[in-house]
Amino acid sequence: MLRPEQLLAPGPDGLCCPLGGFHIDPVRPVAKALITHGHADHARSGHGEVLATAETLRIMATRYGETFAKGSQVAKMGEAMRIGDVTVSFHPAGHVLGSAQIAVEAKGCRIVVSGDYKRRRDPTCLPFEPVACDVFITEATFGLPVFRHPDDSVEIHKLLKSMREFPERAHLVGAYALGKAQRIIGRLREEGYDAPIYIHGALEKLCRLYEEEGIALGELRPATLETGRKTDFAGALVICPPSAFADRWARRFPDPVACFASGWMTIRQRAKQRGVELPLIISDHCDWDELIETIEEIAPAEVWVTHGREEALVRWCELAGIRAKPLHMVGYEDEGD
Ligand SMILES: [Zn+2]
Ligand SMILES: [Zn+2]
Repeated sequence: MLRPEQLLAPGPDGLCCPLGGFHIDPVRPVAKALITHGHADHARSGHGEVLATAETLRIMATRYGETFAKGSQVAKMGEAMRIGDVTVSFHPAGHVLGSAQIAVEAKGCRIVVSGDYKRRRDPTCLPFEPVACDVFITEATFGLPVFRHPDDSVEIHKLLKSMREFPERAHLVGAYALGKAQRIIGRLREEGYDAPIYIHGALEKLCRLYEEEGIALGELRPATLETGRKTDFAGALVICPPSAFADRWARRFPDPVACFASGWMTIRQRAKQRGVELPLIISDHCDWDELIETIEEIAPAEVWVTHGREEALVRWCELAGIRAKPLHMVGYEDEGD
């Protein structure tokens, strides 16, 4: 049998599969790239050939233009493909639209690269699917026991309650442009919020893409003030990229309530530093319990941790009798949270 290290190995360009002649989520341009999802730290432009789900390819084309790679090929979920001497297949990761785990298999050894993933139900993407494997490669963004994300609906109701209490103020929700913004909108609609939702210009293309992919987001309007008066936005809900809080753009809304939807909002200090009045702990990554539950469910012989709080998760695996090691991979910034 093949040793896992012969099948996939971390290198300066990212995870490399020498038998297949490809990299997974490479951080530098390579000849053949398999991409787990569209966040900028995983999906970069300038590769030769890109293999990814149809949704991820569309997201890359939207963000980087049609010439993001020399060539591209669609990976269908669950379909095995032969590349060189290995078999690969893509499986839903539950992280953002089109996000996939990538299973790589040769000579009786199977490794699953989970990319970024979460276990919570998300109306805007397919749910995570556990895939049996010898080695499970996981991230550990929230890999510390302090990270226990509350139920999403608790956080959504916090936002709705604040809007009822301050009908004269605009609520500005900072949410990353790919995935988080659409998930927040989708969850608000599920909770019965049917008024128009205003979106910052930076979210327009991706929201449209989600809608074209069949994810209904309800009535969205541009959050531009040129045509109206400040008071037009009293009681309005505005979704914007987190960076927009600091822009002049944000100061034009009536007495805005700054909200930020992120797993990092568990840390009060972070919320304070960013001037967030209403922190919403909504993450597109697993919390500590979900990381552990996922490893227990998949029960791999070995766990490799790519980035995040690697040491704590590796230690937990060792105590549970699972071989584990950190890969210390650089270049993954967790844009999505
Ligand atoms: Zn990431
Ligand atoms: Zn991501």
